[in-house]
Amino acid sequence: MKPRDATTVRRMEHADDGSAPARSEDSLVITSFTRTLRLKVKPESYAWLNVAAMEVNTVWNWGAEVSEKAARSCTGKRKWLTGFDLCALSSGASEYFEKIGADTIQRVNCEYAMKRSTAKRIRLRWRVSRGPRRSLGWVPFKAASIKRKGKAVLFCGKTFRVFEPERLESVKWRQGCFAQEALEDWWLCLTVTVPIEESVAPLEKVGIDLGLKDIAVTSDGERCEKGRFYRGIEQKIAHAQRRGHRRQAKRLHRRAASRRRDALHKFSRQIVNQYQKIVVGDVSSPQLVKTRMAKSVLDSGWGMLKTMLQYKGQQAGRSVQIVSERDTSRTCSSCGSLTGPQGANGLRVRRWTCDRCGEWHDRDINAAKNILRRAELPASVSGNESSSLPVPPRRASSSRKAGIETARAIA
Ligand SMILES: [Zn+2]
Repeated sequence: MKPRDATTVRRMEHADDGSAPARSEDSLVITSFTRTLRLKVKPESYAWLNVAAMEVNTVWNWGAEVSEKAARSCTGKRKWLTGFDLCALSSGASEYFEKIGADTIQRVNCEYAMKRSTAKRIRLRWRVSRGPRRSLGWVPFKAASIKRKGKAVLFCGKTFRVFEPERLESVKWRQGCFAQEALEDWWLCLTVTVPIEESVAPLEKVGIDLGLKDIAVTSDGERCEKGRFYRGIEQKIAHAQRRGHRRQAKRLHRRAASRRRDALHKFSRQIVNQYQKIVVGDVSSPQLVKTRMAKSVLDSGWGMLKTMLQYKGQQAGRSVQIVSERDTSRTCSSCGSLTGPQGANGLRVRRWTCDRCGEWHDRDINAAKNILRRAELPASVSGNESSSLPVPPRRASSSRKAGIETARAIA
């Protein structure tokens, strides 16, 4: 009798579980997300970091050598060492290093093992400390080994001052690294958790068309102009390269990139502050990069703008949606007929009048309006809610064809 009772009870419990209304624990409310905070380190610490980077390289190369030997071993059993194995083998090694500590050694080991197994290679490239093929410096650390000290941070017993230290206030970091960029400046990179601060925007919704002439145009007619971040300094860069001034060329490249990033930050912030629902057209940049328009594409930074809108929108509790922008420039936003300019020649047409309804359109604003409308289509029409329209980006056989087709889609 007893065992049967037990089973009934169990079955009843099971039935209870099954009929329970949508498990509330599963529908998690996301309250925070992670991103990387980058802060420039003040030059006074560069010498220390350069030495530390050489020590990191030593650890990396040791890991490469040991794991290659273990994988090739002809006497014993062959073994693919994991990060854990490398850490166990290198325990106590920190006393041989002047700058870095055990936590950095462990992170280097784990990173090596992870990258090696992802690359599926027996050994990764050595990290070079000197000479023209020198690897850019990298000093990783764990969350606990970096501490706040007033406006600066304390790492391995040394104080590091950074530019814009106020950005460190009230953030909670997980782990990070010191990383060197091409111009030999050092940056402190921290993985931080940012809480979502829900707010309500004054305006309801906006559609954004990404283009080549202006980076982005909204359905309300606002434009993020390209500002010629790169084109303006292009000649200077070419000049510097011809004369062999590599450092100057790098500096100019960096200036162009930072101008672009700055303009995109401002634009995306403005959009997120103003609108509750943001709809962006999906331009597949990698496809365009293959074509003649490559420089313009890399220049306009669509991908960067999309990412910024997504994370800033997420932080402010906005809805950011990506929809297919196929035919958005050809469709009349008033009557919905395909009366707009098309083909490679159509790119030049900036304004047009609809033959059907006689409405006058600015091509970019019209496209942005269509993009906004696509996100509003009911599920039965749009097919798939999450990615809106089920139209995949077109794949063309030749790059030339791709150029024309995507040009039509963008413009
Ligand atoms: Zn029309």
